Amino acid sequence: MNKEMADTQPGDFVAQLRRDVGSTSAPSTARDPVNQPMIRHWCDAMGDTNPLYTDPDAAGDGPHGQIVAPPAMLNAWTMVGLVPRDNEPQNPATQVYAQLDEAGYVGVVATNSEHVYHRYLTLGDHLSTVGKLVDVSDEKHTALGVGHFVTTETEFHDQHGNHVGSMFFRILKFRPGTGRTANPESSADQPTERPPRPRPSRNQDTDFFWEGSRVGELRIQQCLRCGQLQHPPGVRCPACGSTETGYAVVSGKGTLYSYVVAHHPRVPAFDYPLSIGLVELDEGVRLVSNITDCQPDQLRVGMPLEVWHRQTHDDVNVPVFRPARVPPNPATLTFDGVSVGDELPLCPIPITPTLIVSTAIASRDYQDVHHDRDRAIQKGSEDIFMNILTSSGLSARYVGDWAGPHAVFKNLKIRLGAPNYPYDCMTMSGSVTAKREADGEAIAEITFQGQNSRGPHVTGTVDLALPRQ
Ligand SMILES: [Zn+2]
Repeated sequence: MNKEMADTQPGDFVAQLRRDVGSTSAPSTARDPVNQPMIRHWCDAMGDTNPLYTDPDAAGDGPHGQIVAPPAMLNAWTMVGLVPRDNEPQNPATQVYAQLDEAGYVGVVATNSEHVYHRYLTLGDHLSTVGKLVDVSDEKHTALGVGHFVTTETEFHDQHGNHVGSMFFRILKFRPGTGRTANPESSADQPTERPPRPRPSRNQDTDFFWEGSRVGELRIQQCLRCGQLQHPPGVRCPACGSTETGYAVVSGKGTLYSYVVAHHPRVPAFDYPLSIGLVELDEGVRLVSNITDCQPDQLRVGMPLEVWHRQTHDDVNVPVFRPARVPPNPATLTFDGVSVGDELPLCPIPITPTLIVSTAIASRDYQDVHHDRDRAIQKGSEDIFMNILTSSGLSARYVGDWAGPHAVFKNLKIRLGAPNYPYDCMTMSGSVTAKREADGEAIAEITFQGQNSRGPHVTGTVDLALPRQ
């Protein structure tokens, strides 16, 4: 099947793609049993510090009585890895992917992943999988391009044949260069060539502040005689009157003291609505800055914030603030202790190339679009982008950090939207959306979202079994 035939015989092409819908693969056995080094690598890359995954003493006191693998690792255990295996049993989806590649649909992006966990995996479990081709869609026009969605279902069994989990998975195979060029809703009122932000005015009294931001430090003026901090910088110490001033490098941690959201008038260099906060630093000084990486309706007086330095010109950074990651909850929440409507704290996840690459490899996903920029661009992407196993892993980390180490994931269902590209920031938010009893367990349903500068990257739900008290 070549591209021309696909163009002229769409019905036949789709029928061919669907030939094996409903069929299953022969069982495929994981290369390695569940093991501590791969778990540790995953936890390091994801930033997941739940001690049940790595600390035998803490795990011994936990609900599983021993070390367990992070549940979101489920399909990492059976990923093929970098070296293809000649004797790999043929998955019916593999043939469909090959046919689509040949017909020019070489772009690939995962759109849905739904895990169901029947039990947590422990060290030594050796998984095998059976894959089923569930569906191939008609040709669809998507923002990324013209393509077909391919849906598969995978069942995971342990070495004794017990069914330990399932995964429902959907990817889009698309033709690069056939997508919508821009999102008309977001671009309509934004000029394409944006003027730069105004340069801050600086003088000898404020140079230290701007030079600090340029090198990644938040510097606050400090009296050399009595140690008083003040901002904005002044010529005299307000406490003792001294004119001998220097500066202190402060932590950049603080809380939101007050805020306004500006809608009009719009200055072209800025994004609107524009959140402007009065930030109270941990050191006691307040300063006015932008609050980034969260929606205006997510702002809460008292919320924890952290500084970051936004580059506005080649030689200028401006210190701005975003929600700060709340430390993981060391004590697990109880079922009675949570209520429908409870909000999880916001959590920013800076998307660095290191995060994208290290998490892709930790999840044994060697697809070039997650580590090779040139290949990613050839395949219709702007840059390397985060893989879906990582979106699952970070979602699980976020919910687990809030719920505490003894919460047990029953499932994890996510849908992907805007890609996570390097140098963006994804901010997680979530809330408790249901509570119920099921099979003798007390279940809380959490609905969450991870938003980057382009829109929602991930939306999903988790069912968590919580201790009753
Ligand atoms: Zn002083």
